[in-house]
Amino acid sequence: REGEITAPMVDKLADHHFPLCMKTMHTALVSNHHLKYEARRQYGLFLKWIGLDVEEAVKFWRTHFSNITDDKFTKEYRYNIRHQYGLEGGRINYKPMSCIDITNGPRPAKGDSHGCPYRSFSTENLVTALQKMGITDKQELATIKNNVDSHHYHVACTRVYELTHKQDKTVYVDSITHPNQYFDRSYAAMK
Ligand code: SF4
Repeated sequence: REGEITAPMVDKLADHHFPLCMKTMHTALVSNHHLKYEARRQYGLFLKWIGLDVEEAVKFWRTHFSNITDDKFTKEYRYNIRHQYGLEGGRINYKPMSCIDITNGPRPAKGDSHGCPYRSFSTENLVTALQKMGITDKQELATIKNNVDSHHYHVACTRVYELTHKQDKTVYVDSITHPNQYFDRSYAAMK
């Protein structure tokens, strides 16, 4: 998909195709014009793997980091974006984080937006987020909450995918284990 996804497309893609973790970071970025290091890493690598190439990634972050000068952006952030694409430093082609990597990674503190929301959100915040995604059925919300309470975050996320992608008629045997898998299913179902 490299070259197919451009910086201005990301807002719309976030609405329809991103799992809750990536939606949460995207929303925080849009509201705060900034994301902290761990969120930049999780979200940046996810975007790289949906097909945002490095030039579009630089444009994307520059547009959203609208409260800083070009000089500050170049000095503090451009290098790290290029680093994620293996174009600086040790030139490693970094892979996006799986659900296990994310849930086992650093827990978000107050004001952080990274991590798996099924694990880190309070029940109230999770229900609000799910309602915003159009899930209002009390029974479904209760089932998702039960999955979360039993620490089956990927099961909750898979159910949310099913409820928000009724147009996707593919029968999947495996549940969601990677944010990019969620995106790939959703994006393919749109075509
Ligand atoms: Fe993201 Fe995975 Fe959590 Fe879903 S289960 S919100 S894809 S980390």
